[in-house]
Amino acid sequence: MVVVMAPEATAAEVEAVVGLVRSVSGQAFVSRGLSRTIVGLVGDVTDFEALNLGSLAGVLQVIRVSVPYKLVSREHHPARSQIRVGGVPIGPGTLTVIAGPCAVESPEQTLEAARMAKSAGASMLRGGAFKPRTSPYAYQGLGEQGLRILADVRAETGLAVVTEVVDPAGVDVVAKYADMLQVGARNMQNFALLQAVGSAGKPVLLKRGFSATIDEWLSAAEYIAQRGNLNIVLCERGIRTFETATRNTLDISAVPVAQRLSHLPVIVDPSHSGGRRDLVVPLARAAIAVGADGLLIDVHPNPKSALCDGDQALPESDIREIADVAASLSTLMGRTLAAPSGEFGQVAAGVSR
Ligand code: PEP
Ligand code: MN
Repeated sequence: MVVVMAPEATAAEVEAVVGLVRSVSGQAFVSRGLSRTIVGLVGDVTDFEALNLGSLAGVLQVIRVSVPYKLVSREHHPARSQIRVGGVPIGPGTLTVIAGPCAVESPEQTLEAARMAKSAGASMLRGGAFKPRTSPYAYQGLGEQGLRILADVRAETGLAVVTEVVDPAGVDVVAKYADMLQVGARNMQNFALLQAVGSAGKPVLLKRGFSATIDEWLSAAEYIAQRGNLNIVLCERGIRTFETATRNTLDISAVPVAQRLSHLPVIVDPSHSGGRRDLVVPLARAAIAVGADGLLIDVHPNPKSALCDGDQALPESDIREIADVAASLSTLMGRTLAAPSGEFGQVAAGVSR
């Protein structure tokens, strides 16, 4: 923290600041410039905030230098973290592809989408059983029945499962079936939910809210970390801008910015970002090239009949291309494409990767 004194501040006023800082065991470093004096503080920011230094006579401004999140920051933990979902790594050195349908609709559709995901190079399966829809009349998901389908498909394919939880009351049931809990864009600042997933003992995929700054996103991750869970993956999924040609605007710079500020892995969802099938492969290329640790991709055996987000789902005919992009660009970026761990059942024979 830095306290900027007003140009007319007296020596006694500077001393008052120094005295208060020392009273809470902080250190105060006074720098006297030509026109003003600043006091640099070292110590516990929470203690300094309680002093309300901004209200003291002669104080012009109090500037917080350290970030408002600690546990997820690189100040706290300089090396970038790798997390594991079952046996699947996500983080530096690896590119982890997660793919599947937007929503679980039936056992057949989910199994077929999982086979497509695997062919696309995925090591994890995504799919919503509880869907946070903008309209209450839109498809809301199969609930627990959908979770059971995901668990069956995991056993059949060996793919670890990530699925969304939409409220604190749903955390236990989702954690019972899933390997990773997804907090969606609409719930990024549902603080009770963040605390509940932080206590659930499962890795968390935290999507960026479509109107959230990177600071707000990392502060949301801090809520989860505070509960003792540092197995968090951040997911950039596009933000709301004035542009209407795409569903959201993929904030590609958020990837290196978040990776510089936080040690947590950062992946990109090119499907929800553009909202358009034709943009998924180009945005996936951009994501890998900018250094993303993974991709989250919607695939569907029959996008025209999809109950949710069919416009952005990749059909079978696009799977080869996404697989080629993931394989070739991960190599170019010095990353290994994560493979299914096989920990969750047999890795199905005859499914090409
Ligand atoms: C999803 O991944 O299915 C989803 C609802 O995404 P978002 O929260 O990013 O809109
Ligand atoms: Mn969706």
